[in-house]
Amino acid sequence: MLTRSDIRKLLTARGPAQEELFAEARHLREKHFGGSAVLRGVIEITNVCRVNCVYCPMRRDNTAQNERYFMTADDILERAIEIRAAGIDVILLQGGETPRNLTALEDAIPRIRALYEGRVEVLLNLGNMRRGQYERLRELGATSYILKHETSDPVLHEQLRQEPLHERLRCLRDLLDLGYRVGTGIISSLPGQTVDSIVDDIELAASLGVHMCSVSPFVPAPNTPLELSPAGSNDLALNALACLRLHRPGLLIPSVSALEKTSSGGQTKGLAAGANVMTINFTGDTNRKRYLIYGKDRYVVRKQHAESLLQAAGLRSRGSVFLDEEAPVAASGTRRAL
Ligand code: SF4
Repeated sequence: MLTRSDIRKLLTARGPAQEELFAEARHLREKHFGGSAVLRGVIEITNVCRVNCVYCPMRRDNTAQNERYFMTADDILERAIEIRAAGIDVILLQGGETPRNLTALEDAIPRIRALYEGRVEVLLNLGNMRRGQYERLRELGATSYILKHETSDPVLHEQLRQEPLHERLRCLRDLLDLGYRVGTGIISSLPGQTVDSIVDDIELAASLGVHMCSVSPFVPAPNTPLELSPAGSNDLALNALACLRLHRPGLLIPSVSALEKTSSGGQTKGLAAGANVMTINFTGDTNRKRYLIYGKDRYVVRKQHAESLLQAAGLRSRGSVFLDEEAPVAASGTRRAL
C-alpha cells in the first residue's frame, strides 16, 4: 500500500523513475495474475443517454443530431454468439444511461447465460440505476458492473457530469452490497483537475473495495463543450494506472482504447504499466459508427490487435477471473450464484 505522498510523487515520475514504477507494477501483476490478462468482448447496446456529461458526444443535448439506436435482445444475442465463437467468456454490455435498456436486458441476459450454459461473466456498464433495478439484473444473471466515478472531486464531478457524485457513490455501494464484482474508473487530465485530485481518485477506488478500476486520459471529443480543451497526458494516465497496481495489486485494470486514441502505441504502454485486461469490440459495423464515445474517429480494438499486444507484452490471454471464485455472501446471508 502506498501513502498519499508516495502516490503524489509517483504520478509525476518520468524517465528512470517512471520505468522503475512500471517495472514494479508488472512484477505485482505477475505475482497476482501469473502472466495472464483477461479478454472481454463488448457490445454497445445503445447510444442514447439521459446524462449530459460535457466531455461526451453522446450527451443528452446531442440527442437530436445523433443517429439513435437501441439493440434488441436478438441483436445482442447475435453479437454474443460471435463473442463465444471467439473463445471469450466475459460479455460486456455497455451503453448510455436510459431505462429503455431494461426491456432488452430482461430478455438478453438469461439467453446469454443459456448460450454459455452458465459459464459466463455478464458484465454491465449502463450507468446509475435504482437499487431495485440492479437487484433485478443480478437475479437475471448479471455478475459484474462497471460504474466509473470519473472524478472524486464533488465540485468538478458536478460541473463535468452535471450529476452529483454522491449519487454515483450510492450506486457503487449498492452494487457491491448486492454481490456484484464492481469496477470503477478515473479520467485523468480533466480540465480543472489537480494531481491531488487524482491521488483522491486512487484512494477512493481503494477504499470502496472495488474489484476493477480503469484510468483513461481525457479525450477532447468533437461536438462537446470541451472539444477545444487540450488532450490528456498519457504519461499521467499510465502513472495513475501503475499506482493503482502498486496500491491494490489484485485489481483488474484495463489498458483502455483512450490510451491508443491519445497516442499511438498507448495500449502497449498500458500493458507495460501493469494493466491486465483488454476489451475487444463486437458491436457490429453499423451501430459501432453510431456509438460516438470519442466522436466518429475513435480507436476500435479488434481481436487480432489485442492478442498481438498481449503476445508482445509476454502475456497470455485468459477468461474471467471471477467464474471460479466463491460467490460473495449477500446481505440476506445467502450465497449468490455467479
Ligand atoms: S459519458 Fe456516459 S453517462 Fe456521460 S453522457 Fe456519455 S454515455 Fe452518458
